[in-house]
Amino acid sequence: MKTQPATSPSQLKAEIIGLAETCGIGAIGFTTTDPFRNELQRMDELLDLYQRTGYGHRPFCNHHLRKRLIPRDHYPSARSIIVGVQPIPPGNIEDTSTADSVRGIWATNYARRGKSWYDVLEAKMDNIIELLRKKGCSANPSYVGPAHWHRLKVRPRYDILLRAAAVRAGVAQRGKNTMAYSKIYGSFIVLSAIYTDAAIPPDPPSDPESACGSCTACIDACPANALAHPYCLDAQRCLSAGTGDEVRDNREDPVPEDMRRAYGKLACGCDICQSVCPRNRNLPPEQHVLAQELDPEVQRPDLVELLESRSFRDPRWALNLGNSKHPLAIEPLARSLGNRSQPDSETAHLRLYSAWALGEIGGPQAAKVLQEELEKEQEPDVRKEIESALAKVN
Ligand code: SF4
Ligand code: SF4
Repeated sequence: MKTQPATSPSQLKAEIIGLAETCGIGAIGFTTTDPFRNELQRMDELLDLYQRTGYGHRPFCNHHLRKRLIPRDHYPSARSIIVGVQPIPPGNIEDTSTADSVRGIWATNYARRGKSWYDVLEAKMDNIIELLRKKGCSANPSYVGPAHWHRLKVRPRYDILLRAAAVRAGVAQRGKNTMAYSKIYGSFIVLSAIYTDAAIPPDPPSDPESACGSCTACIDACPANALAHPYCLDAQRCLSAGTGDEVRDNREDPVPEDMRRAYGKLACGCDICQSVCPRNRNLPPEQHVLAQELDPEVQRPDLVELLESRSFRDPRWALNLGNSKHPLAIEPLARSLGNRSQPDSETAHLRLYSAWALGEIGGPQAAKVLQEELEKEQEPDVRKEIESALAKVN
């Protein structure tokens, strides 16, 4: 039989805040499990924009986002949502290539040694779950997700829209780049949430969009023009949201020239709209200390090694090498273009983009490789790509 908590809701809240501090959660906030009505309305406006303009989200995301804005659909008895914030190190988009190595850039969020930043925060949030259960309250992590989602090919990691919960729990605001901003840690954070049936007094919500003022630095700096509508991401263009899907999957309809260039040397994800943001200056020193947990080899990968030595090779790495315009990139790209031994789609993508990349690097050595490969090439789409690369270099 369920035991009722011996402590009052306010006392329980104070205990959770104390525990969060002890286990190193950067900030914590509380909200109700009411539907996120403002966000649902905003989503309708966004869907209208997507339909009218083609700008916007991926259909599967839209579908899941609605579900993630009605918390009681997942946990009917839940009364409160507890949102935790974990600071992560500031992003660094500096190019560290030298004459001897072509270096890419891996977004901060993915470059931690061992566990991801989400795992770090979830392990801390588990302490709160334990406390709630000891008090006789229910406690469900939002990071497990309803069982049926695990059967879907593409499933979100969370069954709640964390940014909406963070705004309503008063721990974040939105930026024009659509990121959640903590007042203390800027946008270099990850979020997590727990549902409980304890009726914990909610915190006052943040004003979602009051902090950017007239700044447009993120919009101006986005290499993919994915922020043409402030506070609304074009996830079909964003280099983080897409994480290269288009480059990998669209052989029939290769990514256009401007998008190939937009990838620059971003080997995974993209921190640009956060790195240029004035709200991410003067972050607390402890956030910079966290940078010690980044793996330098992951954060600044050798692009030639990535392309040649990984069992999984992302075709975007060929684009990265082309964008580097580094002479060291010519030989690996030539090998990649000439690799006709594996007829799988990954190799086909790599060959196509390797031809483009050689055209970007240009010069007599790249032109010679392209000419030689054209004479041997049978694949019509690769031939076409070699011909247009040759037109650029000649
Ligand atoms: Fe643009 Fe990169 Fe920000 Fe996506 S993550 S909106 S591509 S700057
Ligand atoms: Fe807002 Fe400027 Fe930061 Fe963009 S760069 S999120 S507009 S403050």
